[in-house]
Amino acid sequence: MSQGFATRAVHGGYDCRSQGGGSASVPIYQSAAFDMVTANRGDALAAGEIEGFSYSRLSNPTVKVLEDRMSSLEGGKGAVAMASGMAAVSSALLCAAEGGGRLISPVDLYGTSVDAMKTFFPNFGIETDFVEDINDLDAVESFIRDDTRAIFAESVSNPSTAIADIPGLADLAHRHGIALIIDNTVPTPYLLNPIDFGADIVVHSTTKGVAGHGNALGGVVIDAGRFDWGNGRYPQMTQPELIISDERRGSMVSFLDAFGSLAFLNRVHTKYLHTFGAVMSPFTAYLQLTGLETLAQRVTTQVRTAETLARHLLSIPQVEYVNYSGIPEGRHRGDADLQDRLSSTMLPKGVGTILSFKVRGGYEQVKRIVDSVHLLAYMPNIGDCRTLIVDPARITHREVPGPYRLSAGVSDDLIRISVGLESPDDLIADLDQAFAVAYQDWD
Ligand SMILES: *Cc1c(COP(=O)(O)O)cnc(C)c1O
Repeated sequence: MSQGFATRAVHGGYDCRSQGGGSASVPIYQSAAFDMVTANRGDALAAGEIEGFSYSRLSNPTVKVLEDRMSSLEGGKGAVAMASGMAAVSSALLCAAEGGGRLISPVDLYGTSVDAMKTFFPNFGIETDFVEDINDLDAVESFIRDDTRAIFAESVSNPSTAIADIPGLADLAHRHGIALIIDNTVPTPYLLNPIDFGADIVVHSTTKGVAGHGNALGGVVIDAGRFDWGNGRYPQMTQPELIISDERRGSMVSFLDAFGSLAFLNRVHTKYLHTFGAVMSPFTAYLQLTGLETLAQRVTTQVRTAETLARHLLSIPQVEYVNYSGIPEGRHRGDADLQDRLSSTMLPKGVGTILSFKVRGGYEQVKRIVDSVHLLAYMPNIGDCRTLIVDPARITHREVPGPYRLSAGVSDDLIRISVGLESPDDLIADLDQAFAVAYQDWD
């Protein structure tokens, strides 16, 4: 039987009896290259016939432990760590749609992801069909074409906290032979494992709840290892590639031939990580492994405080509504019954550690609240053990085209809070005094 989540969060991917010379914490292998020892071993390493390390852009022992631990926590078959969440998101989407494919995505996503699909990926011949509500499965299906390669969504979206119908989307995608890629950053693997509900690929910004201390950027792509990349939709997986073949022996193979159900992960690693080079540093991997050790405990506390704050905000007359799908009064986007059902079936331990709320008055009041908080920090990050506040329309979602931003509910009078580990009473007191300042001449 597999070990419990909290055990894997502390031990996954690392056994100090056989690795790291007995070191309790995972050693930081701060080395660009590794001795390959003999020509035969170097040849086998380069051919991928044996596991080992030669050069840190290809693989690094500290980073490898983080990959194995994240894969274990998500129930995947393997993972590739990268320098940031956007490196992971972009690599996964480009790898799926490579060579002129299409994507289907909602608009309520992390701002840079929307911008990438809307205005940048088309320059590479990759178009995205945006749907207003990703849980409207008929609308999603109406966009599926012969060249559609993936459906992409955030499990819990940032900043609306709307929950994606992963089982419904997985069913639909798989009926058409299309992969489902889920950004699981907001709930973290502690609250949700999208692979259990049918996702094929999971991506994370490990900068957020995984690191948990706001001290290092990172990302990861995790493969469930069960999608059929040979179903005819993915020519990039079935064409022979020199980089994984052996010209000298006259054998030319494709990613599917060489890696089977792990073709996607290996293509992300061999093509996207090796060529674009957005590798995670060993020091970052070390910090994120340390963060993971307390993920379950941190998120449990943060979810409890987020619920308390959401309820408190609902009692403030100048708050129009609160987006926090973890409580019934906080479900504003999409069908409320479906959100109810998804939160109890997929996210029984909570939906995450961010919430957003719309204030009366508009941007002027948003500015005053942001300028008046003392304990909350005005920062564009989430998942930190410090509580952070931000105005998404001006900061995190600034690059999203206006109509998309509004359709995602990111209006100028919306404020997002990422809930940390402080005493809830202190957070409430700080917000209350900030509201008092912001509305002192308001009637
Ligand atoms: C922050 C974030 C990203 C991007 O991650 P970086 O580490 O900042 O590159 C992607 N998706 C979601 C949901 C995020 O919150």
